[in-house]
Amino acid sequence: MGHVKLHIPGPVEVSERTFRAFCRPMIGHRGQGFKDLYARLQPKLQQLLYTKRPVFLSTSSAWGVMEAAIRNLVRRRVLNCMCGAFSDKWHDVSKRCGKEAEPLQVPWGSPIRAEAVDKKLATGQFDAVTIIHNETSTGVMSPLEEIAALKRKYPDVMFIVDTVSSMSAVKLPFDELGIDVMLAGTQKAFALPPGMTVFVCSEAAMQRAATIPDRGYYFDFLEFQKNAEQNMTPSTPSIPHVYALDDKLDEILAEGLEARFERHRRTNQMVRDWAARHGFTLFPEPGFESRTLTCINNGAKPGGRVIDVPRFQQLVKERGFLIDGGYGKIKGTTFRVSNMGNETEETMAELLAAMDDALKAL
Ligand SMILES: *Cc1c(COP(=O)(O)O)cnc(C)c1O
Repeated sequence: MGHVKLHIPGPVEVSERTFRAFCRPMIGHRGQGFKDLYARLQPKLQQLLYTKRPVFLSTSSAWGVMEAAIRNLVRRRVLNCMCGAFSDKWHDVSKRCGKEAEPLQVPWGSPIRAEAVDKKLATGQFDAVTIIHNETSTGVMSPLEEIAALKRKYPDVMFIVDTVSSMSAVKLPFDELGIDVMLAGTQKAFALPPGMTVFVCSEAAMQRAATIPDRGYYFDFLEFQKNAEQNMTPSTPSIPHVYALDDKLDEILAEGLEARFERHRRTNQMVRDWAARHGFTLFPEPGFESRTLTCINNGAKPGGRVIDVPRFQQLVKERGFLIDGGYGKIKGTTFRVSNMGNETEETMAELLAAMDDALKAL
């Protein structure tokens, strides 16, 4: 069988163009060639993230930097905002790092709300908070702007934000938001192969990190800063990812950021319309649906149509596309379709036609 095109919420389909950029001859990571590449990348990443801060490159998946943020920034106690599999896991990871951690748990399908975060932070017990902007397991996008606005009220709290499945698809103005860490793995909305994470830290985050012992080496934010000043990474990076990211940023900026955000909005709407047309409801609380993936309700919540998801997935796969059968405790009672990366109205129409056909064949 030929390649099955990925429409799961990561990794997503990688274009031929990106693969070509990925497969260039190696260079030394301490040589001028690499430094030039790194320096060329910076303004493009800063433009994408609306920041003047240096943007760091970590050779790891997102969890590397998610764990690093805990190890670098939590001194006393961290508040983990939990609304799905990834954000729930971050609480476990915080404890595994030996930190005092408290959950702010909402039911899966609900967003994290600023009022709830405010109430917790008002206790004065926390010096850091973790938030996942786009909870990929439930397809919920939390109101980041409102949550980030709390930073002004609690300037000493580190706001650590996972934008793994939203970065580059949705506007995330880092400086304006005023948050402290924002990170994303490259295999989601960037549509690069997995293996690299892009992240940015505020000045305050760097100052906090400097006061925290036991930051280790590989993920020490101060090492990233020191090396970035020389246009380098602390250790040997995945150089193919840096090539591919350089090329991808050219592609993104040529399309135009606003145009890219709008494209994701339109392609996402197509999936929502598909679901409604076939009698399905969505899993997220109305008004908090993600713009990069759609989590379709299949019995997890009352209402809407229910189908045999594994069979449906198989039928869609036979038609050339891989969709996701639900994650964690909502596996099978939801299913997910990604519109991240290079997908256009034309390519999404192909997928949705295959899904129509598969539904008929059920
Ligand atoms: C995929 C994902 C992660 C984990 O990324 P890895 O690349 O597996 O480390 C974390 N958070 C969110 C929101 C994700 O979508």
